[in-house]
Amino acid sequence: MFIASDDLFYATPNLNRHAHLRSDDQWLAKQIKQPSSCFILLHQSKNLFKKTETQNLPHMLSYEEAAPFLEENPWAYLGGDGDNHLFVIDLSQKTEMLILQNLDDDLFFEDLRRAGPILQKEQASQFAYGRALMFWHQRHRFCGSCAHPTIMAQGGHLRRCTNPECNLEHFPRTDPAVIMLVHDGENCLLAHNHHLKDGMYSTLAGFVEPGETLEQAVRREVLEETSIKVSDVTYAGSQPWPFPTSLMIGFYAKCENYDISIQDEELSDAQWFTRDDLLNFSDQGKFLPSRDSIARNMIEAWIRFTSPDL
Ligand SMILES: [Zn+2]
Repeated sequence: MFIASDDLFYATPNLNRHAHLRSDDQWLAKQIKQPSSCFILLHQSKNLFKKTETQNLPHMLSYEEAAPFLEENPWAYLGGDGDNHLFVIDLSQKTEMLILQNLDDDLFFEDLRRAGPILQKEQASQFAYGRALMFWHQRHRFCGSCAHPTIMAQGGHLRRCTNPECNLEHFPRTDPAVIMLVHDGENCLLAHNHHLKDGMYSTLAGFVEPGETLEQAVRREVLEETSIKVSDVTYAGSQPWPFPTSLMIGFYAKCENYDISIQDEELSDAQWFTRDDLLNFSDQGKFLPSRDSIARNMIEAWIRFTSPDL
């Protein structure tokens, strides 16, 4: 069972990051003024949306509209396709009210976590990428080694320490987390976490620790959280998860025992479910994670795999 990672929300398969060009300031200065360049606005990790009669749509600015914001706010280059280049500007240093005063009345800032599942994948992916990158910048304004201020470089894909005796380079951080569907072919293990909405059951997950392989992290997390031992840990797919800066690495794993004992105080329940249970989840007052998550995609792939007729 594999998940097509490129098809998941928050992946950016169609965006050429031009990693070899973005450190060239002259090239960047030229691209930023292209009439077809687009600018994502962020305010404290919220993205800009436009209200319409039917739904709220993600909104980007042209260079002409974005130029006043570029002068005194941090911005980064995300990538491009031909002459269409994508940038992100973080306006977190200003108040939301002040920013919106200078924009059309139907524009507003919204958390991608709430809006993501109803967006088109490509738009959600671009917004997520910009959000994750600028979140990292916000949290790394000072050098972790000498505590001097750091400055942005290479189109926003690096921070450099301003202390000449240190000069350390800091790169955007991604936190690897494993997410796993534990099963025996007929039953799968899902859990309710206190942070999830009431009734939502999802796959187990946890952060990878230093000195640990991904497979070890899967076995450790499942055992620690539920007392279930697993084997046959196989890779399923991965998903950037910009809430705030994780990379979810998905696995299927076979259980070796069935008696669940919840060891993690963040879990309030964990149960075995058949695919029929999952297909009739709402009858039990339960529901699966949102469609933008790798968890949902892994669960649906498991249902299809064990029941090819569905
Ligand atoms: Zn330093």
